[in-house]
Amino acid sequence: MSKFGPEYVRAIAPYQAGKPIAEVAREFGLDEAAIVKLASNENPFGLPESSRQAMAAAAADLGRYPDANGFELKAALAARYDVPAEWITLGNGSNDILEIAAKAFVQKGEAVVYSQYSFAVYALATQGLGARAIVVPAVDHGHDLEAMAAAIDADTRLVFIANPNNPTGTFIPAAQIEAFLQKVPEHVIVVLDEAYNEYLAPEHQFESSQWVRKHRNLIVSRTFSKAYGLAGLRVGFAIAQPEVTDLMNRVRQPFNVNSLAQAAAIAALNDKEFLEKGARNNAEGYRQLTAAFDELGLQYVPSFGNFVLVRVGDDDQAGARVNLALLKQGVIVRPVGNYGLPQWLRISIGLPEENAAFIAALKRALG
Ligand code: PMP
Repeated sequence: MSKFGPEYVRAIAPYQAGKPIAEVAREFGLDEAAIVKLASNENPFGLPESSRQAMAAAAADLGRYPDANGFELKAALAARYDVPAEWITLGNGSNDILEIAAKAFVQKGEAVVYSQYSFAVYALATQGLGARAIVVPAVDHGHDLEAMAAAIDADTRLVFIANPNNPTGTFIPAAQIEAFLQKVPEHVIVVLDEAYNEYLAPEHQFESSQWVRKHRNLIVSRTFSKAYGLAGLRVGFAIAQPEVTDLMNRVRQPFNVNSLAQAAAIAALNDKEFLEKGARNNAEGYRQLTAAFDELGLQYVPSFGNFVLVRVGDDDQAGARVNLALLKQGVIVRPVGNYGLPQWLRISIGLPEENAAFIAALKRALG
């Protein structure tokens, strides 16, 4: 055990990312081209062509620092979400937004509320500050907002909500979130993390960006990593009232979103066709995967994101065992034992042929 640093840093369990394709190829002696990666909720169509072109044009200026204030990207986002540009904070991915929010509003010894089985970075951001985590038991793998409101204590400064949630895919309807926001004390910041928002069917969409007008303590967080296909570039953003936005801007790195990322995000934001193609593929892929799970008699959590959590066995080694059997066949998915879900695997929705390769490998893995 290291002697360096505070005990609360030494106690952190490192984030477990999806295994890179090159690593699996090396470890299992496989051809990279034959590997299917459905492990990190990435967009199976990759980078939009519109973003590729915008980056090529922006590359000429890479000798200069990026626009620290992200003027053009914020203007594009402000127009899209009908909020003033001064209400937007840019992040190096939305992970950065989550950390910036924690850093700006929570100090050592104070408390943060989030749900069991919710996104791993909430725990990391909390523990990294030496703050106390109040983890509220999930109901049906999703957030129990009533219990979360009740769990807010005198030390609580921030609440994280993921909607849809990763890794479970659960969704909270608008009315429940609005009721929750009514109950939260005004001095407690609520981060509504909507990384998968663009995958929601129209009947589930709501303009959470407009709730920010009513709630001074609300931060809506979004990302370009999923539906927009820019995971490798790292761009996310937050919408909040100026008082909160101003404080977040004080603790972020001045150049946290690079020039190529800013250019690519503007192009992607306006690429309606790319978003629609992705949403269609996601809905079809969800049907393809869940039909196979039904056929195999496997339980899964109904998902509103671009991934599905499926139970691959009854014993606590099931997730790890089936994961290894899939890796040997060149299929990378995500084990979720670190979330306390050792019987489950999380499968990102891919292209039809990738989903089919996964299903065939799963059938072999289950014998
Ligand atoms: N929130 C949730 C719920 C996520 O699943 C993820 C990605 N795994 C993120 C935020 C962060 O993604 P990014 O930093 O790429 O925006």
